[in-house]
Amino acid sequence: MEKICLLDLEGTLVENEFLVELASLNGSAQRVSEITEFAMSGRICLEDAIKERIGLIKGVSRVEAERLLLKTKIRDGAVEFLKRLDETGWRIVVVTNGFMFFAKPICDELGIREVYGNELVFENGKIVSAMISVAKGAVAEKFSGKGNVLVAIGDGANDAAMFRRASVSFAFGNRTGVAEHADFLVADFFSLAGMLDSRFVVASSDSVPCGLNGKVLRFESRADLERRLPVASALVVRSQKIDASLIGMAPDLKVIIRQGVGTDNIDVQAASARGIEVLNTPLSAPSVAELTIGFMVNASRRIHCMDHEMKRGTWRERGEVMGSELFGKKVGIVGLGRIGSIVARICHAMGMRVAYYDPFVEETSYEKKFSLNELLSCSDIITFHVPLSPETMHLLNVENAWLVKRGAIVINTSRGKVIGKDALGVLLGSGVASAVCLDVHYEEPADYSSFHGFENLILTPHIGGNTFEAQERMASRVKEILAQRGFG
Ligand code: NAD
Repeated sequence: MEKICLLDLEGTLVENEFLVELASLNGSAQRVSEITEFAMSGRICLEDAIKERIGLIKGVSRVEAERLLLKTKIRDGAVEFLKRLDETGWRIVVVTNGFMFFAKPICDELGIREVYGNELVFENGKIVSAMISVAKGAVAEKFSGKGNVLVAIGDGANDAAMFRRASVSFAFGNRTGVAEHADFLVADFFSLAGMLDSRFVVASSDSVPCGLNGKVLRFESRADLERRLPVASALVVRSQKIDASLIGMAPDLKVIIRQGVGTDNIDVQAASARGIEVLNTPLSAPSVAELTIGFMVNASRRIHCMDHEMKRGTWRERGEVMGSELFGKKVGIVGLGRIGSIVARICHAMGMRVAYYDPFVEETSYEKKFSLNELLSCSDIITFHVPLSPETMHLLNVENAWLVKRGAIVINTSRGKVIGKDALGVLLGSGVASAVCLDVHYEEPADYSSFHGFENLILTPHIGGNTFEAQERMASRVKEILAQRGFG
């Protein structure tokens, strides 16, 4: 694992824009700036911009170009910053879309040995063309991954390619095409040095630990996560799988927080072996319970079918559409924890009889069953609210699915693998259940395209906890946990 700092040259390490300065010697500075702006805002492609800009510097003499070098203005704080990087074991690499003619002597003076840049071609002491060979993205790619900490520092749109591959990226200035690509905008090298010491929180884009003084690095994909992890001190995830190999890429990781219920998407053993805390934010119980009740009402009155038919122009006579009341029916709750208890309370208030199976819950005012089979055979509605564990995997399976009371409604808003794949065939295919409602699925994302026409299979794509209120509660809890651990 290496610590690598990729730095752009012009506008970043030095204040000069040599290309503009060369062009101004030809009276074309304005046009170069225009083309640069066009490239930054995406109005012309980078390659065309480079070609046109080179055309504008043809004929400038070597002597004039050398004079520009004498006017080099190194950005304030850069020398101290580079010295500190060097002393703390960083590999410093300069990568510029400008020319080695300028980059090499500047980097020699700053003691930087690794420089990537393009070549100016002179004939008879005058610029005639340039050889363009540097692609910033490719240089960044070469150093990214392998658990390396890759920091990219730049100031222009052409730096976005290296920003995208870096663990963390910083940009000077607020130019169009820069702000949206870099992780942080910085005013000078002094503030940048401070940022580099940060304990970064790496968070999936669908979790929102906002207000942490801007130390949050987002990720969308596994590849994003892999490049971020080398600088992660805290990790916030929703349903993304965090396996041992990912944990191994984060040498400074102290805490993994699941913005959701349960930690079954995280290799807790691998994390604990490294002393990393794994926490979750189980604050979505009312939302999941309400979805469960919604499933019950829908399944017993077939709201989804009526809605679908009416929108196709079908009006059924009232006698044709018969449903069932929930009032007086028995709901069998598997797992009487946070969610199960709220479901029980609402069902009780709706005039339903409540029974449950949960070996870890003492006697309550509800009817306790001492075996799952007993509960399955006496309940009009069976609803699952257990965590996924070796004991609850396939809790409802092809054998005991036959015990489900004929015509019952089966609901799962817990975890997909709590119900075995083949059990669904028994419940639906053999007509044991009158309806099956699933928010969670054996594999996610799930494909039910072959179940088209199964009106008694009611599906949602794992949205149990997806309410504004639940997400807000969980996000504040994540923030609280991070604050308690000194983040933010
Ligand atoms: P919880 O820990 O409060 O309750 C789980 C209950 O299950 C506990 O009372 C426990 O004793 C019981 N239990 C454990 N093993 C059992 C077994 N073998 N047989 C019977 N009961 C058993 O959890 P919760 O907050 O109520 O959440 C329940 C589950 O719902 C979560 O673990 C999660 O998987 C799921 N969930 C889904 C969504 C969603 O978006 N659909 C959102 C949140 C939670």
